[in-house]
Amino acid sequence: MTVETILPIPNIFDAKRILCIQPHYDDNDIAVAGILTQLARNGAELFYLTATDDLMGVVDTSLSDADAASALKRDQFAAAKIVGVKEHYWLGYPDAGEYDYFAVRRDILKYLRMLKPDFVFTCDPWLTYEAHHDHIQTGLATSEAVIFAGLPKIASSDPEVDSGYEPHDIKGIAFYFTREPNTIVDISSTWEEKIGALRCYEAQFSPSEMEQLIAGRDMKSQQVAQGQSFARGEALKVLDTNALHVGI
Ligand SMILES: [Zn+2]
Repeated sequence: MTVETILPIPNIFDAKRILCIQPHYDDNDIAVAGILTQLARNGAELFYLTATDDLMGVVDTSLSDADAASALKRDQFAAAKIVGVKEHYWLGYPDAGEYDYFAVRRDILKYLRMLKPDFVFTCDPWLTYEAHHDHIQTGLATSEAVIFAGLPKIASSDPEVDSGYEPHDIKGIAFYFTREPNTIVDISSTWEEKIGALRCYEAQFSPSEMEQLIAGRDMKSQQVAQGQSFARGEALKVLDTNALHVGI
């Protein structure tokens, strides 16, 4: 018996409102822009929440923080047009810096209660050999916030949001950058959009790094599709939110 036989894998294509919570500006798109573009076309509303300010990844180190931040946002908005993202939100924690885990969790609780998504996407914090703390913190804080969103005694960072919140159902959580996928989606029809979205992230990749990124995603998408009836895929670990505690 597996997790899936007790708690069936939620169907991400049933999603109506999706909150995609990422450590850095480009993680959602690098991982699953192909899937997210399909979901937006399918009528789902996409909201992106970015945990850090991403300033360490900006290639042009001569830029002031303010100019680097606006370059990052310019790129993110350009990619969002292609993917179909409805709204962006940012938490602004220092990229690769020191910040409090529980503060991040409180902020994520706020956005879960404010936006009331029925599906949440984030990076898998249990990815083996993941060294980047921002990824571990963001994925874990998101997972915890998802199971605590309906508990009124656990405060978010915004008392006003908490006081107006009526508990709602989060049907599923989808982890990308995972080594244990249970859902492979054919992205052949949105591959061009994915590459177009990634090419928007100019502030974070030099031209040669960009080609490396695209080549890497190209290989990965084909590897993920091996044994399937399609040529390119993206992989997710999708779980019923009740599966996020004590190994149900
Ligand atoms: Zn990242």
